[in-house]
Amino acid sequence: FQVPQAVNEPVKSYAPGTPERELVLQEYKSQYNSTVEVPLYIGSEEIKSGDTATMSPPHDHKHILGTYHKASKEHVEKAISTALEAREKWANLEWEQRAAVFLKAAELIAGPYRYKINAATMLGQSKNIYQAEIDSACELIDFLRFNVEYMTRIYEEQPESSSEAWNRLEYRPLEGFVYAVTPFNFTAIAGNLPSAPALMGNVAIWKPSDSQVYSARVIMEVFKEAGLPDGVINMVMGDPKMISDTVLASRDFSGLHFTGSTTVFKNLWKQIGDNIHNYRSYPRIVGETGGKDFIIAHPTAHPKQVATAISRGAFEFQGQKCSAASRVYLPKSLWQEIKDFVIEDLKSFKMGSPEDMSNFITAVIHEASFDKLAKFIDGAKEDDEAEIVVGGNYDKSKGYFVEPTIILTSNKRYSTMCTELFGPVVTIYLYEDDQWEETLKEIDEATEYALTGAIFSQDRYAAAHATNALQNAAGNFYINDKPTGAVVGQQPFGGARGSGTNDKAGSILNLYRWISPRTIKETF
Ligand code: GLU
Repeated sequence: FQVPQAVNEPVKSYAPGTPERELVLQEYKSQYNSTVEVPLYIGSEEIKSGDTATMSPPHDHKHILGTYHKASKEHVEKAISTALEAREKWANLEWEQRAAVFLKAAELIAGPYRYKINAATMLGQSKNIYQAEIDSACELIDFLRFNVEYMTRIYEEQPESSSEAWNRLEYRPLEGFVYAVTPFNFTAIAGNLPSAPALMGNVAIWKPSDSQVYSARVIMEVFKEAGLPDGVINMVMGDPKMISDTVLASRDFSGLHFTGSTTVFKNLWKQIGDNIHNYRSYPRIVGETGGKDFIIAHPTAHPKQVATAISRGAFEFQGQKCSAASRVYLPKSLWQEIKDFVIEDLKSFKMGSPEDMSNFITAVIHEASFDKLAKFIDGAKEDDEAEIVVGGNYDKSKGYFVEPTIILTSNKRYSTMCTELFGPVVTIYLYEDDQWEETLKEIDEATEYALTGAIFSQDRYAAAHATNALQNAAGNFYINDKPTGAVVGQQPFGGARGSGTNDKAGSILNLYRWISPRTIKETF
């Protein structure tokens, strides 16, 4: 089971004067000045249904980037039958052939498609170039490469045999097809959710988020150019309810690979439960959902380290990460120092369109998100139990811009301490220095989520105690680091409780969910 050793793709710097900076800017401008029409990808066909929606950059919402075509129920049914037809060959293809397709896809993104996919992510999802590079280039490449290596580790695992009995484990894909539902906030996740099951021999129906179709189409182009056979991954956009209803009604639905909101995931789970008698197999359900991720500083914490974790952990990617720090518990004794450092750090966070590369903060994804954030910010301005420490301004005249905002509250259960906002807003609660123990308990109990969290402490006993006390409060737990920025192959990512099934994207654990092994015993 020899494959090229997986290594993390080096992140390019895009510093002024570098060739990559020029090349991605050129690509950005050329995409901005042309329009695209994204078809449905069903088998070998690129279908233009005629029922379309427009795509615009969130930072420049009056500008049209193009349109995408929406699927009808018949299109979704056709995607299912096409996938099942493709399965007959794909599921029986040697693993090396499947691996080669996705390794080639990784190389295409690392090389000829790098600037195209980065520019598409900057335009369609308003990421700055550094965020686009980390997400749509490096993380997607890492998912593709590391999954190939993990696949071979699975295949290597074989049971004991003897001279009389030869025992073999055959790692078959699931019987049926996988439904991949992907979010707007990571192009890498959009590429990983259909491709991880496909690598293991499955076929997929992929529904990207309406707000990510612009870069999703580039992923489809890459897969096609890498030689992915027609019908293995079929991309359909449109009315999410109709698409999910049609997919989940199929007898051959065999797995859900989901990243998105907790509510949608729970609804899909329920719907799958209601349909359970119709399915040929028990479907695998894998989901990464919401978060209300914490930072807690012990009185011995290093104030500057905590401040950097707040500004980076809460505001990078406009806070549009499931892992973003959004509730912070600080000892009163450290507040003034941490506050001064954060305010200083935020001065360098310029806000504006990503084509000006000195802008660090760009727009949030759409008007609904903007309006929700504005509502909570206004609430904090008016409430007696809250005050705005930094930021608090917003403007949607050109793009959906929300300033990085820090709310300070005297109520540990204040609305923004418990509600996932998915934007550049973080809330801080100050605890009495002798209330450390109670604060740990509060963190554990305050929300339904358990995705990421970070503890800052120079006291080893306190760090060890918090690690233990918060063992169920975060699937990704950080000691003296911000709670974001997990790297494939280094920090397998995922949470429990209301945050998901904790099947750790970008790890061997995730790939186990996409196989249905057969044990063969042969006697002589
Ligand atoms: N894996 C990302 C991180 O560690 C977050 C992914 C997400 O937001 O879904 O920051």
